[in-house]
Amino acid sequence: MRRHRKVKIVATLGPASSDHATIKALFEAGADVFRLNMSHGTHAEQKARYDIIRQIEVETGRPIAVLADLQGPKLRVGVFADGAHELKEGDSFRVDLDDAQGSAARVQLPHPEIFAALEPGATLLVNDGKIRLRVETCGPDFADCTVTVGGTISNRKGVNVPDVILPLAALSEKDRGDLEFACELGVEWLALSFVQRAEDVIEARNLAKGRAAILSKIEKPAAVRSFAEILKVSDGIMVARGDLGVELPVHSVPPIQKRLVRACRSAAKPVIVATQMLESMIDSPMPTRAEVSDVATAIYEGADAVMLSAESAAGSWPVEAVQTMDSVARSVESDPTYREVIESSRSVSRETVADAIVGAAREVAETTDVVAICAFTQSGTTVSLTARERPRVPIIAMCSEETTLRRLCLTWGAHCVRTPELERFKQAVVNAAKAAREFGFANETQNIIVVAGVPFKTSGTTNILRVAPCDERLIYRTDPE
Ligand code: PGA
Ligand code: MN
Repeated sequence: MRRHRKVKIVATLGPASSDHATIKALFEAGADVFRLNMSHGTHAEQKARYDIIRQIEVETGRPIAVLADLQGPKLRVGVFADGAHELKEGDSFRVDLDDAQGSAARVQLPHPEIFAALEPGATLLVNDGKIRLRVETCGPDFADCTVTVGGTISNRKGVNVPDVILPLAALSEKDRGDLEFACELGVEWLALSFVQRAEDVIEARNLAKGRAAILSKIEKPAAVRSFAEILKVSDGIMVARGDLGVELPVHSVPPIQKRLVRACRSAAKPVIVATQMLESMIDSPMPTRAEVSDVATAIYEGADAVMLSAESAAGSWPVEAVQTMDSVARSVESDPTYREVIESSRSVSRETVADAIVGAAREVAETTDVVAICAFTQSGTTVSLTARERPRVPIIAMCSEETTLRRLCLTWGAHCVRTPELERFKQAVVNAAKAAREFGFANETQNIIVVAGVPFKTSGTTNILRVAPCDERLIYRTDPE
């Protein structure tokens, strides 16, 4: 089983995709990473999905990454006495700490931290930004606002406060419980919602204690401003366009997406483009032309992965949505313009021997007829650096560490293969050749490139580039060690 594309597909699981048959169909259609959204469902439901994924790994013999997405400090209004209210432009509306049921004039906003940070003139956005409130006067337990854009407000609608950095804990009590649960379960990736600063990421990292890699969701203006610092302390990034497009004007999202994708590639860290990619497929088996273009754009930009949210979690066509992403990816990646764009956007500073070796591997692959680059890795670094080169040929990630191997399922182009712990380089070459043949990347007459660090089991030693035949008899005849 191999993919015929480089970009990865992340599929969110939910009510529409919780049974073994559907999750397996999603995997077979092309999902490389499954996302468990901790904002919805119980721990028992998440564990049931997790167990099914691990079972599918055994059935297919292929590693799969699981990403647990923590809800983060998502703000919500309280409840109303009589359901929904229509707020009109120019109306006055109060939010406060009073837990009495709401009316057309006021509602509870049970977050004292917001009132502590608000100032007159600030904007409150309610219900995915559909309603805009301007703060006129405020105190430690209330804010009197004017409705500047009207709409329907109802129980527990989400609230965004884009203008101020909120002194909120990056992780709520619920998030801490979910983080521990997800780490115990054994997920490879933890996604942090509403990250505001690098310290938020460090806090989660300290709690995860190396059990899971940390992916920061960029969905706050503050996170866009501090992106460089956040990237440094994160293992991966999600361009979370849903909340980002609420907190910032929606037209500012595409340039931010481009900038973030490039920065992540430069840093050799995986980046996911997320939200509304095939939104109409929640209800329809056919995507819109604009959605297909959006998926294509993310791939042309060089994203590591594209993501499905409600399309696969709660829609009527989850498998078709994955198939659509797979076909778009294959179409884009076979376009000569794609190669041109990817080549011209390469910005790699060659600082280490490892950088130089993976760069050389790509150049050898470009100028000869080798059919794959097999990269041996312990920590994942050699594969991440190879992926940053965005080589034309497939990357086969060879690793004896199960966790590293699964994490790399999110990395552009990495076809992950488990290998036993090795002592000798010759054995590595033989295993690489076997894997290349087994998964249909090479036949016996073809050559591959092997990159590795010897001695094995020491991180950061990438020091060998070998062009090797895929015929084992030739390897034994020609390789000294
Ligand atoms: P969410 O994050 O789906 O958890 O809100 C993604 C986004 O905001 O785009
Ligand atoms: Mn979000």
